[in-house]
Amino acid sequence: MIPISLTPIPLRIASLTHERNSLFEYPVERLAEIIREVGFRCTSCAKCCTREFNGHVFLLDRDVTAVKAIDPRALEPAPSPEFCDQNGTFYVSGYALKTQDDDKGSCWFLEEGKCRIYEDRFTICRVYPHMLHREPDEHGTVDWRQFSGLDQHGEYGHPVPDEESLTLARETKEYENAFLTQEIQFLEYMQHYFTRHHLRHVQKVYDDRLRGFLKGDEITVKVYYDGALEEHRIING
Ligand code: SF4
Repeated sequence: MIPISLTPIPLRIASLTHERNSLFEYPVERLAEIIREVGFRCTSCAKCCTREFNGHVFLLDRDVTAVKAIDPRALEPAPSPEFCDQNGTFYVSGYALKTQDDDKGSCWFLEEGKCRIYEDRFTICRVYPHMLHREPDEHGTVDWRQFSGLDQHGEYGHPVPDEESLTLARETKEYENAFLTQEIQFLEYMQHYFTRHHLRHVQKVYDDRLRGFLKGDEITVKVYYDGALEEHRIING
């Protein structure tokens, strides 16, 4: 399999556009029906707000704008940058929520097991664990997935009123669409940016710089946000 950063950008844009078209075609009523069948209910275990359970919380641009207003210290460049140019600068498609320095990697906003900005929580926090994108299963068969961490948190089998399930289904589709659109815009931007500045992705530089970063070297990461790149210098830990 070709690493994602080595797949030509036009092919990646075409693939994401295809994915977004498939998302448009997925009937919202079908997703609402699955939401009713599963009947998820949050038990406030706060598992999903930790890195231990969920890796990282990627933010849409509009949520980044909200974090900047609430507490900009809660932002960090999303992990796994997509590109590294010949000069050693990394590029990534957006920001993630920073985690605290505790055992579980609790979200920056988690306090004594509760979200301290719950009323203003972000798009992904509102729709989670509902989702709608295609992923390969353990046999490599690609199919739609509508729930994250099924049977690993919360309770199931609770009644979900029709109207609530439809609202959740619409919001989930809207989130997935916004996520794919942001990725496509980032790739289109990078295509023009690299051409204009005579840059190219070099996997060896990527690997060398990443190794150095893990040993404590500072790296430069440019984060795509709101149609431009924001530069950060970061050190591991
Ligand atoms: S912002 Fe709140 S709901 Fe979202 S991950 Fe952090 S603690 Fe959880």
